[in-house]
Order: sequence, then structure tokens, then C-alpha cells
Amino acid sequence: MTIRGSNARAAHFEEVLNPATGAAFARAPVANLEQLDEAVEAARGAFAQWSSTTLTDRQAKVREFATVLRENLDDLARTLTSEQGKSISDATMEMHAAIAFMESYCDLSIDTEVLRSTSEEHVEVRRRPVGVVAAITPWNFPVMMALWKIGPALVAGNTIVLKPAPTTPLTTLKIGELGQQVFPKGVLNIINGDGEVGSALVKHPDISKIAFTGSTATGKHIMNTASTTLKRLTLELGGNDAGIVLPDIDVETVAKDIFWAKFSNAGQICAALKRLFVHDDIYDELVAQLVQIAKSVKMGDGFADGVLMGPVQNAMQRDKLRSMVDDAKAKGAKVVYQGDIPEGDGFWFPITILADVPADASAVTDEAFGPLLTIHRFSDPEDALTRANASPYGLGASVWSGDVDAAVALAERMDSGTAWVNQHPAMGPDTPFGGVKSSGMGVEGARWGLMQYTNIHVVNVKKN
Ligand code: NAP
Ligand code: MG
Repeated sequence: MTIRGSNARAAHFEEVLNPATGAAFARAPVANLEQLDEAVEAARGAFAQWSSTTLTDRQAKVREFATVLRENLDDLARTLTSEQGKSISDATMEMHAAIAFMESYCDLSIDTEVLRSTSEEHVEVRRRPVGVVAAITPWNFPVMMALWKIGPALVAGNTIVLKPAPTTPLTTLKIGELGQQVFPKGVLNIINGDGEVGSALVKHPDISKIAFTGSTATGKHIMNTASTTLKRLTLELGGNDAGIVLPDIDVETVAKDIFWAKFSNAGQICAALKRLFVHDDIYDELVAQLVQIAKSVKMGDGFADGVLMGPVQNAMQRDKLRSMVDDAKAKGAKVVYQGDIPEGDGFWFPITILADVPADASAVTDEAFGPLLTIHRFSDPEDALTRANASPYGLGASVWSGDVDAAVALAERMDSGTAWVNQHPAMGPDTPFGGVKSSGMGVEGARWGLMQYTNIHVVNVKKN
């Protein structure tokens, strides 16, 4: 753990499991509450100095950090595969993308806006950092979610205490250690711990903002707890994205894109396509194509050759998926495909495609966070739209069609933070990302995301 620029001795250690074997392969240090206080104190202490440096100087430090991470990329990617389960090529991709996202904040400006300036008055809007940020990250994209927060928080002049998910702490802890070479003491603190540590961060009076990615249930809990100290919040929560496939598409061409829109990262993506609505005319053909693709995908240990899909990250998640499938079957859903899983005690869940799934099945009402896709039939696009929008979630949504204008016209009526056409999800460092309804509040990414790590400060002068 990194506290005040050096390695903190752990109060105790917890085993970290390799999801491909279910066996412990490492021990991770865990912070006690005194260490949490120490990390916050270090961040609070470093804030005055760090926030008074120039934007350009902070951006130079973040760039330097990006370089150090790239120099250690192979080791970090291997650690990520070992603790998360994703294939080594996916882990390498996550590392590259996460660093690029973080670096993109080094090209942004934080401008003062002059609203009025006359001989009598001068009014301007400035941006100031909020203070100490606590970042709490999940286990599906441990590095991406960490660097999405570290980048804008530090560039805007805040200091940070970050807590990874306790099932995937190792890569993030290593990233903290590498940060010791770059940042002044106390600017970047990484502590490991469970929900209790997370909860204590949310209550802490010296923390000004929580940046959280995780489940809607925990997000609501955080919002509730944060109200006592009125912390600023960015909440990236669960999604249950719908995709609507219109009949005028070339099924063979889009089937592969639709398959990976759901099954990338073994389906553990907040903005994966989770509920697929398919027009009657192409329903059978598209389902058949998806099954064909599913059959060709090799599931296994992320280090093995040719593996495209790993296990799910933890046993709790696997069990949740199992109960979703049981519930859907009991309610009349048809299992159109269920793949094989490797032998052994890993947290394996087979690629599963369910058709004609009733709207009240938990695989439809809740977030199916894993390799489980539900397919739904429609004949009237308006009906598909109504069903797609009938969800408490609102992260992403997509429409697939050969007629782009028609697709946009439908997609823009979907209740979501992002509407995609003929792709799902697609993200970039220049594009904000966030949810509506129970999928969260605020956005991450680009200048909009950066501004969420600032408070508006108005300077309003009457000249005499
Ligand atoms: P979670 O409970 O939301 O956990 C996310 C992070 O929050 C972890 O670091 C967690 O630590 C911490 N946490 C838990 N309770 C907290 C509290 N009261 N205050 C502050 N921090 C707290 O997610 P999960 O239980 O691992 O997964 C459950 C579901 O979340 C999944 O099935 C999936 O639907 C969804 N999920 C969504 C995303 C996403 O990208 N939006 C990512 C992962 C999971 P602990 O693990 O110790 O509780
Ligand atoms: Mg939880």
C-alpha cells in the first residue's frame, strides 16, 4: 500500500484468488482504520502544495507516470490476468487503453471564463480542485477504473486516496508503488480493504469527493452515507443496456459485433449489451449466427494460447449468474446455447444464450454481469423501444440497422447516457461517459469528466 509516498506496512494480509483456478496465489496487504486515517491525512497535507502547482506541471507529472506505467506494462498486465481472469491480450489492451485515457487529461485546459468585464465590474468563473478525492473501484476493469479517476483528479489539482476491490487489489497496489517514483508524498495514496474501509472513506470528514464505480446498491448506500458530510459524488453504477436490431441489417456482418458487445471481458462490463431485442424477420437467423460464434470461442485460463474468454472474477458473481439462469428457465425461457467450461475449481460460467425470456426474470430485471445474454423478440420497433426503456437502469443503449438515420431516430429516444448505432459499447478519451436513472450520476471522461473534479469559484468585482 502506498501512504505518504512510501510502502505502508500492512495491518494484516488477505489471500488473493486466481479466478481461473479458485486457488490463492498471492497475499495482499489490508489497511486498518488508522492507516486509512493516515492516508487521508497524507492526502490532506499534500493538497495545499499540489493544488498550488501549475496545471502544466501537474500534467507533466501525470505524463511521467504514464511513461513509468508503460515501462512496467508487461508485469502489470500479467498481474491483472492472474487476479482478474481476463486473457493476457485483454489485460494488455486494458493497460494500454487505461494509460491513454489518463494521459488524455494532460492535453486539456482548465479555463477561467470571463462573464462580464467593463469599467465598472468584472465577473469571472474559475475552477478550483475540490480537495481530497476518495476513489473506490470494482473488479471488472481494475486498472481502467483506477486511471479514469487518478488522471482527472490529479490534473485538476486534487490529491487522492484510492481503494481497489478486495478481490483484485494487486495491480492497483503495484501502480501505487510506481507512483512513488513520480508524485510528491501524499498526492497518490492506495490502500486496500473491503467494504468497511470503503464505508469509512465515504464517512471521512476530510474527504471532499467520492468517485465510485460499482453496483447500484453500493452507489445508493454511498450517496446516503455521503450526505452527512455533503461530499461531491461521481457514481458510475450498473447498467442493463438494451440493443434493438432492426430487420434491415446484414445479419452475418453484425452478428460478430453484437456477440462481442455482450461477451467481451466475459460479459463483465457495465455498458455491455445485456438485453438484445431482435426483429421477428431476422430473429432465427441472428440467434443461429450468435450460437455459431459462441461455439468457436475458447474459454480458459487467460495465460493459455487462443483463449478469448476467461472465468468470471469471483464465486459470488458466478453464483448470481447461475441463479439468474435457473430463475429464467423456471419462468419459461429457452436455453438456446450453453457452452462448455474448463475443468477444475475456477469461477467458470459457460457462455449462455437465453431466448424468449420473460420480462420478470431476474436475468432481465437485474444486471446480468457475466457471459449471459437474453434475447427478446419484437415485430414493432415502438414496442421494442418501450420494453428497452422499461428498466431502472440507463447507462448505454444501441440500435442496429442498415439505415443509419432511422437508427439514430430510434436510438435518441432510448433512456440512456449514451446511444450507440451499429456498435456497443464504444468509448474514447474525447467522449464523456455516464449513466442516467439508477446507472449513476455525473460523467467520466474528457473535459466534462475533468470538470467533475473541480468546484466553480466565482470572482465578482465591483470596480470603483
Ligand atoms: P460493489 O459492492 O458495488 O463493490 C464495488 C466496490 O465498492 C468494492 O471496492 C467494494 O468493496 C466497495 N464497497 C462495497 N460496499 C461499500 C460501501 N458500503 N461503501 C463504500 N464502498 C463499498 O460490487 P460487487 O458486490 O463486487 O458486485 C456486485 C454487482 O455490481 C455485480 O453483480 C454487477 O452487477 C455490479 N458491478 C458493476 C460494475 C460496473 O462497472 N458498473 C463493476 C463491478 C460490479 P467490497 O467488495 O469489499 O464490498
Ligand atoms: Mg458488494
